[in-house]
Amino acid sequence: MPRCLICKKRDVQHSFRPFCSRRCSDIDLAKWMNNSYAVPEEPDDGYASQVDPEAVKQLPYENNN
Ligand SMILES: [Zn+2]
Repeated sequence: MPRCLICKKRDVQHSFRPFCSRRCSDIDLAKWMNNSYAVPEEPDDGYASQVDPEAVKQLPYENNN
């Protein structure tokens, strides 16, 4: 039997493949959920953190007129 992908200590149980238990299966599911939530938010956060508030204030709005 292969080892559980999460704890890597216990043998995989048929009913929880490829994990050893419901607990490790839930841990893996939570990891996937966190990843899928993080991906769409990442570009927004990255953009916001790259914008310098001082630079935004100094945008040449008057030159556009
Ligand atoms: Zn496990």
